[in-house]
Amino acid sequence: MRLDKLLANMGFGSRKEVKTLVKQKQVTVNGKVVKDSGMKIDPSKDEVRVKEQLVEYKPFIYLMMNKPPGYISATEDRYDKTVIDLLSPEYQHYEPFPVGRLDKDTEGLLLLTNDGQLAHQLLSPKKDVGKTYYARILGNVTERDIEQFASGVVLEDGYKSKSAKLSILSSGEISEIEVIVTEGKYHQVKRMFEAVDKKVIYLKRLSMGELHLDEALKLGEYRELSVNELNYCQ
Ligand code: URA
Repeated sequence: MRLDKLLANMGFGSRKEVKTLVKQKQVTVNGKVVKDSGMKIDPSKDEVRVKEQLVEYKPFIYLMMNKPPGYISATEDRYDKTVIDLLSPEYQHYEPFPVGRLDKDTEGLLLLTNDGQLAHQLLSPKKDVGKTYYARILGNVTERDIEQFASGVVLEDGYKSKSAKLSILSSGEISEIEVIVTEGKYHQVKRMFEAVDKKVIYLKRLSMGELHLDEALKLGEYRELSVNELNYCQ
């Protein structure tokens, strides 16, 4: 790996800024002052220091984001802003991608990582990871809907959804609910409500398995997962 890429990834500034650090003789590899910021190093073996401080290389990053509406859960899009655009360059260098998708208008918990194995585990249908959503629904949500969600509803394409746990927080012209689903089909929650003749007008993901959205994160904000949170995901 190039030294300047590693140091940029680790938050030491852009590659240009890293070059300046190298020019100032502030960077050493295995005790020798570096002359070329583009030199190749092995991050798992070589000892890199900046201003004498040891640089500990992390190959993976794991971020929790409170996804705002208006952003696509993808790494790039021809027309729209993506959740990656919300990250600082320091994190973008890791080339993270979203684990699963939230619709453009959906808010809430989104995990971003460059660890393909962890993403695969979390998304595996075999794992049955429960995802909890809060939603506002146009129409009166009733006990009958709770029963139908529990036994699985038939979506418009004929697919019968797995059992989902629906809880009513308030019921009226606009109802508030929480629902736990174990599947991640396209527009899953919206289509499940359509199947019982109701419309989701606001949707926010609160948790994925044991991982809960940090309510201190404002829309569009993100932070690294704690060690405990990461353990929940593994
Ligand atoms: N279900 C939906 O309909 N949309 C989402 O973004 C997530 C789950």
